[in-house]
Amino acid sequence: MKVARFHAPGDIRLEEVPEPVAHSGEVKIRVRNCSTCGTDVKIYRFGHHHIRPPRVMGHEIAGEIVEVGEGVTGWSPGDRVQVIAAIPCGRCEECRRGHLTVCPNQESMGYHYDGGFAQYMVVPAKVLAVDGLNRIPDGVGFAEASLAEPLACVLNGQELARVGEGDDVVVVGSGPIGCLHVRLARSRGAARVFLADLNAERLAMAAALVGPDAAICSGETDLVDEVLKLTGGRGADVVITAAASGAAQQQALQMAARQGRISFFGGLPKDDPVIACDSNLVHYRELTIVGANGSSPAHNARALRLIADGAVPVADLITHRLGLDEVMDAIDVVARGAAIKVTIEP
Ligand SMILES: [Zn+2]
Ligand SMILES: [Zn+2]
Repeated sequence: MKVARFHAPGDIRLEEVPEPVAHSGEVKIRVRNCSTCGTDVKIYRFGHHHIRPPRVMGHEIAGEIVEVGEGVTGWSPGDRVQVIAAIPCGRCEECRRGHLTVCPNQESMGYHYDGGFAQYMVVPAKVLAVDGLNRIPDGVGFAEASLAEPLACVLNGQELARVGEGDDVVVVGSGPIGCLHVRLARSRGAARVFLADLNAERLAMAAALVGPDAAICSGETDLVDEVLKLTGGRGADVVITAAASGAAQQQALQMAARQGRISFFGGLPKDDPVIACDSNLVHYRELTIVGANGSSPAHNARALRLIADGAVPVADLITHRLGLDEVMDAIDVVARGAAIKVTIEP
């Protein structure tokens, strides 16, 4: 079968390898869609300390079961499935307390295990053990189902930031994650959702799709001023930074309303993770700052439901569909910010 494997930074190869076999506790799937995200670009450029090459990349996975290993019950060939990306151990103290997204033993598809940039893939027993394989509801295509994973992460972020009825929400970063944040915030009853990006072109493309109440190009206007103007000086109830930007995180503190919640959804570069924080803003305005680290298996199942119910449509966010031999083009398009969502159809 054909796979796209990471060998070293700057070195992803299309290769022919033997098809994997489903051993005890595993299932084998025919991958139908594996979508790409900014993380794939990061891995391509810098590698990752959890990846020991060669490794098949790809972690936003949907496909069809073709083989069921010994001891696996409830699944059969032909079942359409979506696979989680982050695999909690299910046994540690955090997992036992229900904090699955911060399991210290977390492993990931495409990092510790071969991922979805392949014609076939084995779903590890550890995924099945934590209910990490989801049946794709009727009416939901494989490409849409592959977006359940990023939507699950967005759902985790908005739960932690308590996005809800009547909130004014600012989303900074208009990539696929920013678009999903806009749509999810609306489905959770937000009053108004503003979308901001430094890149005017990307912002226009995203705004045309998800229709925010205002699109703010932070490269052209002062984002904090603009948000204060839009909210009558109050600020936003929730600010979500869906960009690897310390400056955006600092601005988030400035434009949050009293009792506002701030989600540092996107992480910062490892070599530059420190920001300035006016602690008195947090103190007197009773701000809440929350992080977000991936998603749990339950978030994935609920994300799939949100897609199926039409609460969070995703089909129109998929702007590019490419074959496995075009993986490098896909990574290039994502790196240039020239697409919303790029999916690989192996
Ligand atoms: Zn991703
Ligand atoms: Zn754990």
